Amino acid sequence: MRAIIIDISKSLSVLLNQHMASHQIKSLTLTKGKEALEMLKRARCDLVVISMYLEDMEGTEFVEALRKLDNQADTHVVMLTTEENRDILGRAMKAGVNELFPKQKVDAVLEHITHWVQKTRLKTTTGNILYVEDNQSTALVVSEVLKNSGYSVKQVANGLAALELMENNVFDLLLVDYILEGDMTGLEVVKTLRTRTSAIECPILMLSGQESEQVKVEILRSGANDYLSKGASRDEMLARISNLIRTKRLFEQVQYQQQKLQHLAMTDQLTGLHNRHYLFEAAPQKLSEAQRHKFPVALIIVDLDKFKQINDEHGHASGDRVLKEAAQLLRKQCRKEDIVARFGGEEFVILLSHCDQRQALEKAESIRCALQNLNPIQLKVTGSFGVACCQQGTHASFNDLFSDADTAVYQAKHNGRNRVELHRT
Ligand code: GH3
Ligand code: MG
Ligand code: MG
Ligand code: MG
Repeated sequence: MRAIIIDISKSLSVLLNQHMASHQIKSLTLTKGKEALEMLKRARCDLVVISMYLEDMEGTEFVEALRKLDNQADTHVVMLTTEENRDILGRAMKAGVNELFPKQKVDAVLEHITHWVQKTRLKTTTGNILYVEDNQSTALVVSEVLKNSGYSVKQVANGLAALELMENNVFDLLLVDYILEGDMTGLEVVKTLRTRTSAIECPILMLSGQESEQVKVEILRSGANDYLSKGASRDEMLARISNLIRTKRLFEQVQYQQQKLQHLAMTDQLTGLHNRHYLFEAAPQKLSEAQRHKFPVALIIVDLDKFKQINDEHGHASGDRVLKEAAQLLRKQCRKEDIVARFGGEEFVILLSHCDQRQALEKAESIRCALQNLNPIQLKVTGSFGVACCQQGTHASFNDLFSDADTAVYQAKHNGRNRVELHRT
C-alpha cells in the first residue's frame, strides 16, 4: 500500500511514517498540494493524510481536485485540523474527506489508520509473496500472474536465499516449489521455517508436480498450509493464495484486538498510566531480574495530600484534572525503563531500576519539589512520598518492598505531609 502525508508538522509526520511502516505502507511526505496532485495524477495512492491548510492551497480544495482524478476515486483521505466545528466538518465532507481529526488526537489518528488498513486488506487480498522457484521460465509466468492480480512478488531460486529473506522481511505468503536446485529441498525450507518463531504466522503454499497421496501428506505434515498441483489452473492458484492470505489477515486482526484489550486491562483510563494490574505483573519480574543481575531497585509511593479536600472544594471533575496533571508530571520525571503506575485513587507508584537508596531519595525529593510547583488548575497540590529500596542482589519480594514504602508514606503523613521518608531496614 502507498500513502502520502501532506504538510503535517514534522513531529507528527515522523510518527505517521513509523506507524505506516509498521503496517507495511510505503509513505511519502510532501509540503505542497500542487506537487502532490501532480504525483497522484501519475500513480495511484491508497491513503492521504493532509492538513486543513496547506502551504499553497486549502486542504478541501486539494481533496476536491483529488476526487476529480480518475485513479483516486477511492483513495482514503484523512484530514487533520486545529479547529473543530460543524462548519469545517461539513466543508471537509463535501469535498470528499473520509475522516476529520483534531491534530492533538494523535492516538485516534494512528488507531484509525490501523483499522482502515485491516479493513482494506480484508476486502482486497493484496500482499507480499515470496516465491521460491528454480525454473526461471515457470517463475516468470507465475510471477506475472501474481503481479497482475495485485500482489507484490519477490522471487528467488533456492532455499537458502528464501530463508535469508524471511529472516529480515515480513511476507504474507511463501509460495515454494517442492523440488529446488541447491542444497535444500522445498520440504526442508518449510521444516526449517516452522522451527523459527519469526515465521510461524506466514502461510505456506507448496507447488508440487507430484500427485501421489504420500507426497501430499508429506507436504502437509512438514508444516505447509496447503499444496497446489503444478497442473492446476491459474484461477485455482489465485483462489488458494487469496484464502491463505485472508486467513492470515483475520488472524492479525484478532491479535491486534487482543493486544488492545490487554492494553486496556493494564492501563488506567483517567491518567493513561499503567494500573495496578500491570504493576503486579511487571514489578515482580523486574525484581527477579534485579536479583539475577545484581542491580538495586527502588520503589516510591506518592500519596497526594488532602486530596479529598480538593474534591470537596472544587468538585470531582477538578480533582480528576489534578490527577491527570500529576500523573503527567510523574511520567515526565522518570525514565522510560521505570514503571510509573496509578495504584488507585490519589496514590501513585514508581519502580526505579538501577537505582540505589541515595538516588531514590534524590529522585523522590526532586519530584516532590516539582509537584509542589506544578499548580495544576491554579491549585497548590503536594504529596507525601515513601521510599523503599532493594539492594543489589537481595531477595525481597515485591509485596515486602511495597509494604515498606507504604509504611514510609504513613510516616511522611504523620510527620506533616509534603515530605519524603525512607523506610530503613
Ligand atoms: P491524606 O493527605 O491523608 O492522604 O488525605 P486525602 O484526603 O488525600 O486522603 P483520603 O484517603 O481521605 O482521600 C482520598 C480521596 O481521593 C478520596 C476520594 O474521593 C478521592 N479520589 C479517589 N479516586 C479519585 C478519582 O478518580 N477522582 C477524583 N476526583 N477523586 C478521587
Ligand atoms: Mg523446481
Ligand atoms: Mg490515599
Ligand atoms: Mg491522600
